[in-house]
Amino acid sequence: MKELVSIVVPCYNEEQSLPYFYDEVLKVMNVMKDYDFEIIGVDDGSKDNTLDELMVLSNKDHRVKYISFSRNFGKEAAIYAGLSHAKGDYVVMMDADLQDPPSLLPEMMEEIQKEGIDSVATRRVTRKGEPPIRSFFARMFYKLINKISKTEIVDGARDYRLMTRQFVNSLLELSEYNRFSKGLFGWVGYNTTWIEFENVERIAGETKWSFWKLFKYSIEGIVAFSTVPLFIAALTGILFCILAFVFIMFIIVRTLLFGDPVSGWPSTICIILLIGGIQLLCIGILGEYLAKTYLEVKHRPIYICKTTNIDQ
Ligand code: UDP
Ligand code: MG
Repeated sequence: MKELVSIVVPCYNEEQSLPYFYDEVLKVMNVMKDYDFEIIGVDDGSKDNTLDELMVLSNKDHRVKYISFSRNFGKEAAIYAGLSHAKGDYVVMMDADLQDPPSLLPEMMEEIQKEGIDSVATRRVTRKGEPPIRSFFARMFYKLINKISKTEIVDGARDYRLMTRQFVNSLLELSEYNRFSKGLFGWVGYNTTWIEFENVERIAGETKWSFWKLFKYSIEGIVAFSTVPLFIAALTGILFCILAFVFIMFIIVRTLLFGDPVSGWPSTICIILLIGGIQLLCIGILGEYLAKTYLEVKHRPIYICKTTNIDQ
């Protein structure tokens, strides 16, 4: 019996890209004759006709399955839903916009067959076609998070990844609500081979990531994979206690020596403002972790499925 490969595709407003995507994947599936395939399109609460498009494809080709969410839950939720419905011996995740070239799949398959390899991941070596300011901040983010987190998070890594069943099962065991896949892949461990490719621009439609969304996503990544910010907050507290102590000593000595002329109002205000600011910042950091904990303990489902043609 042939081994089954599941292709998981998160789709949010991708009605324009999907036909191109299917054509490309079809070519690859026709080349890889030694495997059976299933395509799991996860409609992440799209506002356009993505679901209809998926239904059309699935009528045409019984290997195309779909899951449709009740609203937009985000790409991470879509990935989770796709992984949990995938039945394949191997599972691969791809974006619907062809920025993850399906033509790399045969090469990835070859790699994963090698002894002891559990996943084959991809990273783009260029960020061609991306606004320079976005690339700059992306690079800064990866530098920072790798300094403050024990889990390795690779710069330029895409979510395009081929995994063995064992790897997928381990990922599914991490049932946390705040999912930051790029970190989860590293956290589960195993042996990963990297394949590099040049950035490709999306085939149709628009990116769903605004600068603000990316910024929030990076904060999420840091909060999910590092507690160093909390440590820095505590450290700043200690530092300020020491400074305050020195300053108090200085004031006492000065008063004893020179009496107590009423002056120094500007410096008092500066100190109050500075310390007030730092206090608020530290409370904010604390709040960020608390908020994530709050969402986590509610144990809400990661996604809600409205329609699907996959039988459980
Ligand atoms: N996506 C999703 N839910 C979202 C946002 C994006 O499922 O809320 C999907 C989208 O359809 C695409 C993939 O995630 O297949 C990557 O999104 P996009 O191409 O917009 O991101 P970029 O490639 O610009 O980083
Ligand atoms: Mg894209």
